[in-house]
Amino acid sequence: MTENKAMKAQAAASGSAHDDLTNGESQSKVLSDSLTRLEEENKIIQNTINKLQEESAMLRELFDKASNELNNLKKPALLVSEVITSEGNHAVIKLPNGNKFYCNVSKDAGNLLPGDSVLVEQKSLNVIKKIDLCTNFDVEKYVIIEKPTESWKDIGGLEIEKREIQEVIELPLKKPGLFKKIGIQPPKGVLLYGPPGTGKTLLAKAVANSTKATFIEVVGSELVQKFIGEGAKLVKDIFDYARRHAPAIVFIDEIDALAAMRMETGTSGEREVNRTFMQLLAELDGFEHLGEVKVIAATNRVDILDQAIIRPGRLDRLIEVNLPDEKGRLDIIKVHSKNMNLNGVKLPALVPEMENFSGAEIRAVCTEAGYFAIRENRDYVTPEDFLMAIDKIRIEDEEDESMILG
Ligand code: ATP
Repeated sequence: MTENKAMKAQAAASGSAHDDLTNGESQSKVLSDSLTRLEEENKIIQNTINKLQEESAMLRELFDKASNELNNLKKPALLVSEVITSEGNHAVIKLPNGNKFYCNVSKDAGNLLPGDSVLVEQKSLNVIKKIDLCTNFDVEKYVIIEKPTESWKDIGGLEIEKREIQEVIELPLKKPGLFKKIGIQPPKGVLLYGPPGTGKTLLAKAVANSTKATFIEVVGSELVQKFIGEGAKLVKDIFDYARRHAPAIVFIDEIDALAAMRMETGTSGEREVNRTFMQLLAELDGFEHLGEVKVIAATNRVDILDQAIIRPGRLDRLIEVNLPDEKGRLDIIKVHSKNMNLNGVKLPALVPEMENFSGAEIRAVCTEAGYFAIRENRDYVTPEDFLMAIDKIRIEDEEDESMILG
């Protein structure tokens, strides 16, 4: 009996030991599972921390940039001025209002030359740095630059003038070697003078086309009226541009607005025109006779021109472009009516009717004759259309003249 009890007790003891073992195993599994879970969670948290750190670095960078920008925006603006002369670390500068100052120049400004544009501190007027204002963009914005399509065939008459301009402009650009061989220097440019609408611009464009030159058109009156204070600089920039885009022809229409004789240079406006004119002379003196830049100037008022512009070495070839004679008028009307649908029109019969007409007026006659036909619902032009157009242009011309005479 006692033995039986003891056996039972032993069996119970061994059962509980087995249970303890199983419990221990399952606990350790639970622990290892939760450890793995915690490790995974830890990894996720670590990744999140890394991401947040990256984001925070990015935000800090953005903040730095924004606060830098804000600081820059708070700084006072710098003045743009022009250097008149410079000497060591000092320079005389001219502010946009015309006042001149002797100022300190910062080391960063580098070597300054007269005419350079610089940034200047508003209070101290110290020169901070040099800036490049004469970009191509400026010149392209202010003057007409093109590759003209007008050819010699589009010019009626003007045979002598065409030949002269070909000799002076076209030949040196196309065959500079010939001039070197013979040992002569071709003119740097020509002055075309004569009444309005006689084909001066047309001649300049045709020679640019035949030499494949860049055609830069400047109007003298605009140079002095539109670009007050900037005329001389613009002239410099235009010639820089021409040199960079050679072969080039600089065509200056209404040169009299710049180069008219002046008795005195009293007012600031006159001084400004004079400065622009001086810059033009300096440019003309500064380039080679056989270089690839040529100047063609045009005027209706040769009588008032300052002789300095036509001195040897400058625009020393003068070509008069006058109103066309009978043959010239016929050639011009042929040019402008070549695409018109004419019916019974004898062009030579119209020529005597257009006495004293310029090329521009003859072109206007052709356009008006076309309009008379359109008004009558016709698709062809008759001699009567031309005669009515001639009358119309003559009356307009007389009205213009009487307005000028007052
Ligand atoms: P302005 O002195 O007023 O500037 P301009 O002498 O330069 O005048 P252009 O502008 O060349 O005259 O001429 C104006 C227009 O008249 C030309 O575009 C052209 O259509 C016509 N024209 C003038 N002369 C001739 C010509 N000889 N042959 C053909 N067309 C001509």
